[in-house]
Amino acid sequence: MAGIEDLGAVIQTDVLIIGGGIGGIVAAIKAKEYPVDVLIVERETTGWAGKASKGGGAFLVLTPEEDLATVMEYHVNNIGFYLEDQELLSSYLSQSYGLAEQLDDWGVKLPKDELGNLDVAKNPAGMWSLTGPDLNMLFPLRDKALEMGAKVVNKVELVDLITQDDRVIGAVGFNVIDGNFHIIKAKATILANGGCNFRSRRLWAAGTGDGIAAAYRAGAEMRNAEFGNSCCDVLIKDTEYMADRRFIFNALGENISKRYEPGTEPDISLSLVLGMDREIREGRGPLYEDAPPGNLPGPSMFGESTRPWVMSCSINPKNASRRSSRLRAPTISPQ
Ligand SMILES: Cc1cc2nc3c(=O)[nH]c(=O)nc-3n(C[C@H](O)[C@H](O)[C@H](O)COP(=O)(O)OP(=O)(O)OC[C@H]3O[C@@H](n4cnc5c(N)ncnc54)[C@H](O)[C@@H]3O)c2cc1C
Repeated sequence: MAGIEDLGAVIQTDVLIIGGGIGGIVAAIKAKEYPVDVLIVERETTGWAGKASKGGGAFLVLTPEEDLATVMEYHVNNIGFYLEDQELLSSYLSQSYGLAEQLDDWGVKLPKDELGNLDVAKNPAGMWSLTGPDLNMLFPLRDKALEMGAKVVNKVELVDLITQDDRVIGAVGFNVIDGNFHIIKAKATILANGGCNFRSRRLWAAGTGDGIAAAYRAGAEMRNAEFGNSCCDVLIKDTEYMADRRFIFNALGENISKRYEPGTEPDISLSLVLGMDREIREGRGPLYEDAPPGNLPGPSMFGESTRPWVMSCSINPKNASRRSSRLRAPTISPQ
């Protein structure tokens, strides 16, 4: 009987990582701390692809002065409402400052103060902080993974996992330029090809849900699929705007943001969401957003009293083409 090997050339690796966004590249760096072959397969171009290079983003850090137990209690009661995985949250919070330092060690630019310490913006709740890397964070990370010996294949879209005896043993896919079929066999396969949010916003288009669907077909259980909060961008006449929750009006022209969110909230405002639902149910819909011209989004998680945090962008458009050729990732081709 014909085997899968008869359909095309086979690449063997110890660890296959599907997706060369931040998740895939960081997984490659961590995997290369062990003596294993690591291969990233990305359907676009690793370093440029994925959502992190489109503006994502700011992240929460717990500085050494901030208290884990206090933040946990506040978060569980006021933000997650007991729905979050508390162990995961606690693990993230306790490692967060170290993770930011780790990114810095790997060459990612982060905001620093005059003394060279990580510069952070305090959350309005005053219990934790926010920071965020340079928009081009994927270039140094990708270079680090390559330096450590990870291999990259770009322009190949892996469309399904290969299974044998209830185990995933690799994946198959196509080159998006020449249509060639690829078979990759691996001892371990990491799905790092993003979430499923391509319909919510253009900058999120990388998340086409391929990995989630492939994992589901291979027998994985779905977890937390009901959670998602792509809520702050709106598409108006083909242009994407960042919505501002301070300017939501009902059909009577009343600003309901002020009614339901009188103060600054630490995160997405549950009281406003419930208020919007109430407005509709009580017949005062439809609702609309009407921010004044030139308005900048806010106060959001940063609060109005905190120093604004600015994400720096180190790429100079004039040098973009030179840079792109210098940074092109080495690829391997099937034998
Ligand atoms: C505008 C914007 C602002 C954001 N702001 C923030 C923020 O402030 N804070 C925050 O924490 N997060 C933010 N995010 C979200 C954050 O950027 C993402 O959660 C994160 O980058 C996801 O990384 P990932 O590697 O898991 O997935 P992705 O970045 O989606 O990478 C997945 C990669 O897999 C590739 N791929 C997909 N399918 C296949 C396939 N079948 N075969 C091969 N390759 C495939 C894709 O091309 C992509 O490169 C923001 C995102 C956007 C777009």
